[in-house]
Order: sequence, then C-alpha cells, then structure tokens
Amino acid sequence: MSTREKTITEFMIEEQRRFPEATGDFTALLNYVRLACKRISFIVGRGALAGAHGSAQATNVQGETQMKLDVMSNDIFLRTSEYGGHLAGMVSEELEEPYQIPPEYPRGRYLLCFDPLDGSSNIDINAPVGSIFSVLRAPQGTEPPTAADFLQPGSRQVCAGYAIYGATTMLVMTVGRGVHGFTLDRGFGEFILTHQNMRIPEETSEFAINASNERFWEPPVKRYVVECLAGHGGVRGKDFNMRWIASLVAEVHRILIRGGLFMYPKDTKDPTKPGRLRLLYEANPMAMLVEQAGGAVSEGRSRMLDLVPTALHQRVPVILGCKAEVERIERYHIEHDQGLDRSYSSPLFKERSLFLQN
Ligand code: MN
Ligand code: MN
Repeated sequence: MSTREKTITEFMIEEQRRFPEATGDFTALLNYVRLACKRISFIVGRGALAGAHGSAQATNVQGETQMKLDVMSNDIFLRTSEYGGHLAGMVSEELEEPYQIPPEYPRGRYLLCFDPLDGSSNIDINAPVGSIFSVLRAPQGTEPPTAADFLQPGSRQVCAGYAIYGATTMLVMTVGRGVHGFTLDRGFGEFILTHQNMRIPEETSEFAINASNERFWEPPVKRYVVECLAGHGGVRGKDFNMRWIASLVAEVHRILIRGGLFMYPKDTKDPTKPGRLRLLYEANPMAMLVEQAGGAVSEGRSRMLDLVPTALHQRVPVILGCKAEVERIERYHIEHDQGLDRSYSSPLFKERSLFLQN
C-alpha cells in the first residue's frame, strides 16, 4: 500500500490525540487560521487581476504606507478568525488597539497576534510575501482582553507559524514539537505535509543583512560583517555569501530550509526605534519556529523568547538562524560592552581573539 498524503487537519488531529485532555478547540482555531492563509494566497496569486496591487493611499498605526493587500489581508484574518468561538481577541500589525470579538460570536480561550501580510513592498514586484501568526492563552478566561493580556513573553506561545506566498504557497508551523511545513495543493485546496521536522543546519556561510544601513550599526554587528566579508583570508577562514529578500517570512523560510543567519540589528538611524521588526507578531513567532528547528534567536544580548513585551507594537532588533552564528554575535556584544573588542580590526586582533575564545 502506498503511503497516504497527510493533510494539515489530519496532522493536527494526530497531535491532538497525544493529549487525551485536549478539547479540539485549538485544532479548530488553527483551521480558521489556515483558511485565512488560503484566502490570502488566492488573492496574492491573482495579483493585479484581483485589483490587489498598489497603495491603499493610507498609513497604518505605525506610520507605514499600507498597500491594498495589507488592508485586504488584515480584513481576511479578522473576518475568518473571529467567527469560530476560539479566540478572546486579536492583535494585528494594522490595528492600534486589540481587536475585540464581536458580541454575536462566542469568545474563546486564545489570543491571536498576526502580521497579515509581511514583506508587502514585494507585492508589486511579484516576489514572496507571507503572513505570520502567534497564539497565546488568554490570561483572563473569557473576559474581553486588554492590551496588557497580550504582553506575554514569547516563551508562552502555544503555537507559531507563517504562510509564505511564493512560487508555491506553504504553511510552516510549530505547536512546540518541532517545525513542520505543508504545501498548498491548489488542485483541491488543502495543505499537505511535505516538510516534516524541519531542522536548521548547524553550519553556514550565508548571512542576510540590509547593508545600506551599515553606517548606523553598532560595533559588534560591524565586526561580525567585516569578518564575514574578509572571507577565506580573514579570521573566519572561509568565504561567505549574502542574501536579502526584504521579507522576514522569506528570509526565515530560506534559513529553515538551508540554514544561514538573518539580522535586522539595533541601529542608530532613528533613536525612537531600537529595531525594525515587531516583537509580538514578527520576532516572537519566528523565534519559536527557529528555536524549534534547532536555531537561536537573540535581540543582540539576550534570548528573544525571554523578553517581556512592554507595548503591543514594540520593535526589537532581531538576530536569528544558525545557533553557532547567533551565539558568536551575542559574544561580540558582550565583548564590546566589556571593552574587549577595541582592537578587533588591528593586527593584534587575531592574538586577542584567540585568547578570548578560550
Ligand atoms: Mn512584517
Ligand atoms: Mn505586514
């Protein structure tokens, strides 16, 4: 007998069967999230035919230009997920305050945070975009949740994932037992398990950073990149490649598939923004996925998932991917804070860095 394809629903039911006390509530919630992603995939796939290209002639709460697809995707996420009775509330990149479940629907036990469309500057050029989601437990049962209820460290996420709308549409997620990828079969409209237990390779010679911001980087990040660029003859002793897709989903997807390092580090470009990416619906869900796949995620000096959020749309520096590289950059931050890296670009550096590694 040939092996049967496993749909995402069957995968979730099997996960649920491992926990006899599970009610199926969570599986049902994910069904709505997956449906939202399918709907967005459909519109993204129709592109200009769906009238979905271009600017919405508006800015969101964070002062960013909204594309039509940002607005449409946000609406799809809200309308699809509010209905099922599994959520107590939602937080979206596109909404300043938490979204309350309308009174005609029952309220549930979970909170959903999402970036409905990530990488929306890629839409018009037909490059990959995605959706990112994170599920938390609602601390107050079925009370209408306040902003404070969402400010939980990422280590408390019960599920995290993203959909990537590229040449194929995939949904990649974790419920805390590894990372699994599902490919949308467009023929019959279901996600099929194609990438079981995704693991980030332990070594890499590939990194991704927006080099146009170099003059704003802190010394530990400059040091790391300078060492990579020095290639075979430098302290790293090998040549590196660089990648940059300008979509967090696409960067993380590449790293989950073939390894590497992604950085959107702290910079001095805008002192009011200590980073570019948002903690609740970008950094935290990606951090859960990357850790579950054997990688690491840091904001430079500490683990992302341990951060206690202070605001719904808080921005953080992000360094994620191959564990050894993330640990190296964390070490560079510590050495910098202790004044031990002053001479890293001088001829003495090789001697000193050898000493420091022991
Ligand atoms: Mn985004
Ligand atoms: Mn977005």
